[in-house]
Amino acid sequence: FKHNPEGDAFLEDESTKIFARKVADHYSARTNQTLEEREASVIIHLKKLNNWIKSVLIQLYARKGDVVLDLACGKGGDLIKWDKAKIGYYVGIDIAEGSIEDCRTRYNGDADHHQRRKKFSFPARLICGDCYEARLDEVLADDAPFDICSCQFALHYSWSTEARARRALANVSALLRPGGTFIGTMPDANVIIKKLRQAEGMVFGNSVYWIRFDEEFSEKKFKSSSPFGIKYKFHLEDAVDCPEYIVPFHVFKSLAEEYDLELVFVKNSHEFVHEYMKRQDYVELMRRLGALGDGNQDQSTLSPDEWEVAYLYLSFVLRKRGQPDRT
Ligand code: SAM
Repeated sequence: FKHNPEGDAFLEDESTKIFARKVADHYSARTNQTLEEREASVIIHLKKLNNWIKSVLIQLYARKGDVVLDLACGKGGDLIKWDKAKIGYYVGIDIAEGSIEDCRTRYNGDADHHQRRKKFSFPARLICGDCYEARLDEVLADDAPFDICSCQFALHYSWSTEARARRALANVSALLRPGGTFIGTMPDANVIIKKLRQAEGMVFGNSVYWIRFDEEFSEKKFKSSSPFGIKYKFHLEDAVDCPEYIVPFHVFKSLAEEYDLELVFVKNSHEFVHEYMKRQDYVELMRRLGALGDGNQDQSTLSPDEWEVAYLYLSFVLRKRGQPDRT
């Protein structure tokens, strides 16, 4: 992976690097679960709901033959969703070596623990690297332009410094074709700050998650100082245990505009569910994935605690300015 030759503008301090490494090590260390282990997870219905949200986003915006960039692709959990959308080419990048290895294994179909399936119908390139530091326009010069870029449950890791947040958006903007789409999910800062306000101390949560802010965090400081690097610790049972960063959405929106990325929509996950469950095809998809069951209050639906975690996230869609040169 090449480093940015212009160095200074995007120079990183040591602590940023240490936190990026912490995140990478955390995800690398998470081993692949067997199907049985996965089904036994206390957040299995939340995982299924998140898969439904990602599937809906992909089905809404991916077109047959699309060239796709999956930033922070993890273990390749979305490969099947992209295959169903009949995309033409896929590039996945993640900072965690272990995750990219698992992604490669899944793509190649060896020892696939989920299901024996036919090979993916699209060619793919899988790379290990830091999407918020590297000049991806150089690394992916031969693969660009992309029709669609996806960054699922990961963009908030770029918000540790302004330089990294800018690099993330500059990368997406440089690689998308005019009219191309950027889809993603990330924590909803409004909800997190609202919950912090209602909390007794600097910690809040329920039986499946907790979020803890540093003692020195104060709302006054939050409103007056830099919107980058506002760190909290996020623990989600059986999934995440990492330092994360608040992404104030209005700042994200205007920064994205600087990079010619215009907001199409933003929706909290609760709103997203209510909106897209009006469509029969997505109700059917939800039923197939098994996230919400059949409406009976039994084991086949999200627990109230899982539903509260869903509320911590939002989905966004941005569009790269300019006219597409193909239909
Ligand atoms: N997008 C995948 C999905 O939806 O299944 C994985 C989501 S996981 C919650 C977050 C991912 O972000 C991890 O795989 C982690 O390694 C990756 N990540 C965090 N910081 C990154 C960075 N600077 N560059 C690339 N990937 C990063």
